Amino acid sequence: MTNQRAATALIIGGGVGGPVAAAALARVDVEPVVLEAHSGPADQLGAFLTLAPNGLAALRAVGMVERVRAAASFATTRTEFVNGAGRRLGLLGDESHLPPELRSVTITRAALQRAVTEAATDQGVRFEYDKRLRGYAEEGAQVTATFDDGTDAAGDVLLGADGIHSAVRDGLSPDGPHPTYTGLLGIGGFVPAADIPPTPPETVRMVFGSRAFFGYQCAPDGRTFWFANLGHSERSREEIAAHGDEAWRAHALDLFDGDLPELTRIMEAADPAQFRPLGTYDLPSLPRWHRGRVGILGDAAHAVSPSSGQGASLALEDALELARQLSRHDPAAALAAYESARRDRVERIAAVGRRRGTQKAGSSHPVALAVRDVSMRIAFTLIGRFGSQRWITDYRPDVADASRGRS
Ligand SMILES: Cc1cc2nc3c(=O)[nH]c(=O)nc-3n(C[C@H](O)[C@H](O)[C@H](O)COP(=O)(O)OP(=O)(O)OC[C@H]3O[C@@H](n4cnc5c(N)ncnc54)[C@H](O)[C@@H]3O)c2cc1C
Repeated sequence: MTNQRAATALIIGGGVGGPVAAAALARVDVEPVVLEAHSGPADQLGAFLTLAPNGLAALRAVGMVERVRAAASFATTRTEFVNGAGRRLGLLGDESHLPPELRSVTITRAALQRAVTEAATDQGVRFEYDKRLRGYAEEGAQVTATFDDGTDAAGDVLLGADGIHSAVRDGLSPDGPHPTYTGLLGIGGFVPAADIPPTPPETVRMVFGSRAFFGYQCAPDGRTFWFANLGHSERSREEIAAHGDEAWRAHALDLFDGDLPELTRIMEAADPAQFRPLGTYDLPSLPRWHRGRVGILGDAAHAVSPSSGQGASLALEDALELARQLSRHDPAAALAAYESARRDRVERIAAVGRRRGTQKAGSSHPVALAVRDVSMRIAFTLIGRFGSQRWITDYRPDVADASRGRS
């Protein structure tokens, strides 16, 4: 630690990683302010995601895990993989060795954002809304951010937690890579009790259908949560909207025709808006995550495909590592140390997400489907026997420095 350590931090983005980074920084005596473009935490249900043990461990380190678990929809500690005919390809995810607070949960992104925002606020973090970053400039030992509303703010360090379309990243690498479309559109939501056989407790069923991929889990409250990934060429939001929700619904029903009948029953119970797809993107590797007193975290630095199930958990890990390094070094050295501690791990996980995504689109050739099923059975058996994905979920952020001085 030197006397040039940051005393104040501007955190751009109050989504998932921003509030947690702010709480972690407050623990190492850096005063954060979170500056968010929207007028408050999201209210709409939005997408849902699974928080893995590594992400929950990061939340535990900043005293947020109980609040987030209370906001979660249900536990998802096991994943059953089947083919379109319902034949089992694998069962993964025994979490019985973990303390209950670290066992995976499914939560809507909006509930997660609200829970971490409220927890950070209770810990003294200040949030300012309607602050859409326009640009920033470094002068001497300060960074000044300017916002669309004409205001500005200055701090010792500026951290971009502003998501996959990050303005902070654009400033760091104006000619750098842009998010890449993964070839999959995502649809889904919750449906009221559907007339289907229930999934086993705490188990999400992932169906590698003949022509597309479907996931669902029956929640304890009777509702069924579902999502599907449809292989499709890239479409803009405007093109997606112009196609119409009913047309997308017909397309999804057609893609799963002939697969397990419960998939059709779930979709028949779904609201048309749940069929309006979102393109899925990733950004596996960037030339730089920082320059001087400016750095990026979460999706801004490394958006992993939703197929990895790790985007939010990695943003939370980043938050802890940033606080750890900023508690030890001046901003520039801290950001360099943070990047070198994180880069290899997140790029490996991004590669896993890409590989998983390519297996989801199905095939029109029965032989190709049979080969896929055999290779998946072998892969899931090996993963189950040797725990070869544990390096992802067993990671525990080193918070020794970040939690200094707090219980
Ligand atoms: C369909 C889908 C499924 C997913 N499933 C999973 C899963 O199962 N498990 C998992 O771990 N992850 C999952 N993810 C990924 C996860 O949602 C993201 O990785 C995570 O939200 C990243 O957090 P973040 O804080 O980096 O960015 P975000 O949560 O996107 O937050 C960015 C914030 O910055 C704000 N912002 C943007 N621009 C500006 C600006 N110029 N000025 C000020 N503020 C700005 C935004 O309004 C937003 O609040 C999924 C994502 C999708 C799309």
